[in-house]
Amino acid sequence: MNRAILSQGWYNLYAILKYKSEWQGKKLVRVDSRYITMECSGCHKVSIKNVDLKNRKFKCVSCGLEICMDYNAALNVRERSLLNVKE
Ligand SMILES: [Zn+2]
Repeated sequence: MNRAILSQGWYNLYAILKYKSEWQGKKLVRVDSRYITMECSGCHKVSIKNVDLKNRKFKCVSCGLEICMDYNAALNVRERSLLNVKE
């Protein structure tokens, strides 16, 4: 029941965002959020070892990219959304 309510809430939020986006002539793009914080925005290696939650740092075990964890996730959101727009 609780899960169903939460699911309905997200659907309503999505519907409102979609309506507002189209009203402004924009396209709303959904992004798959799985592993988005663990994926390196540089080389796309996914590892739990890339993330230092305590210090909010991201350091790739593969290529050595070292940036803010949230910034890395934002770069991944941007890239995934651009891939969805092209489809
Ligand atoms: Zn990397």
